[in-house]
Amino acid sequence: MYEFEIHSPTNLEEALKLKATFGAELHPLAGGTDVLVSIRNNHINWGECPSLLNLNKIQKLHFIRETPDTIEIGPLLTHTEISTHPLIRKHIPPLAKAVAFIGSPQIRNRGTIAGNMCHASPAADSLPILYCRNAKIEIQTHNRTNLVPIEEFITGPGFITIDPSGILTKIIIPKLPNYIGDYLSLRQRQALSCNVVSVGVEMFRPNCEGKITDIRIALGAVAPTVVRGRKTEKLLKNKVLTEDLIDEASSLIQTECIPIDDVRSNKSYRQAMTGVLLARFLFSQI
Ligand SMILES: Cc1cc2nc3c(=O)[nH]c(=O)nc-3n(C[C@H](O)[C@H](O)[C@H](O)COP(=O)(O)OP(=O)(O)OC[C@H]3O[C@@H](n4cnc5c(N)ncnc54)[C@H](O)[C@@H]3O)c2cc1C
Repeated sequence: MYEFEIHSPTNLEEALKLKATFGAELHPLAGGTDVLVSIRNNHINWGECPSLLNLNKIQKLHFIRETPDTIEIGPLLTHTEISTHPLIRKHIPPLAKAVAFIGSPQIRNRGTIAGNMCHASPAADSLPILYCRNAKIEIQTHNRTNLVPIEEFITGPGFITIDPSGILTKIIIPKLPNYIGDYLSLRQRQALSCNVVSVGVEMFRPNCEGKITDIRIALGAVAPTVVRGRKTEKLLKNKVLTEDLIDEASSLIQTECIPIDDVRSNKSYRQAMTGVLLARFLFSQI
């Protein structure tokens, strides 16, 4: 039997007041697919009776909208909603693909994008494409609103920069018109299995056999946080794709990982597979 106290405000103002009063002692609850597992397994010291701030009754946190340059997502959007939404499929197709890898249909129906980001696993499937897009995170407290770049928001495995009285209220994702992108992930099974490695890529070439004018590469599960492969991006920029260039990029990207050995894989396999996944994307573009 697990006991906890739940506050279920019906509007954001009430939720922010509660957060201002209780601070870090009051834990936001979205889909609960990480929080409830963590309480059950006592992953962090939850104390005798954890206090949860149930966000699910706050309609204002459940939205998706388009601006001329961005797609804005509310924190309560589930992975199923994101993977099937026409705006995401049109403007951020690799994100639709990435979140469709998460868990199982049940987990995708409950789990939210904000929960995936705030859990801050380096293997989280939503993150590599958000890193490629330089997404920004809106954090609100009772008296201010901050915008934080995703690379500053996530600081380590399980660690985020958030005011103790703050709630994540919006994710702002720039559009990248005419980019070609993909999310490639290697895992032990097709479902209910965490990433061994993942690679998000977004690339722009004004004509499909010409030079790459921009490329963004983000790597999952190979460092304490998702990381951008900036040396490899630099190598590929302003070049025409050839087999030799792809071999060079595939070797260089492995030097940009700092993976660990764990139950799912070991360091050298993770490094090698990062090179393979990147090469797989680049070869598909020759
Ligand atoms: C069986 C299983 C399989 C899974 N498979 C995968 C997988 O393949 N890939 C993957 O990436 N993940 C996977 N997960 C992890 C999990 O489902 C996701 O991370 C999910 O997106 C978490 O979202 P949630 O809404 O359930 O978060 P919750 O559990 O409700 O919250 C997670 C964290 O985010 C915080 N939080 C939530 N919303 C806010 C907010 N608006 N503001 C501030 N803090 C907030 C919570 O306080 C908590 O710290 C799996 C989990 C399970 C149980």
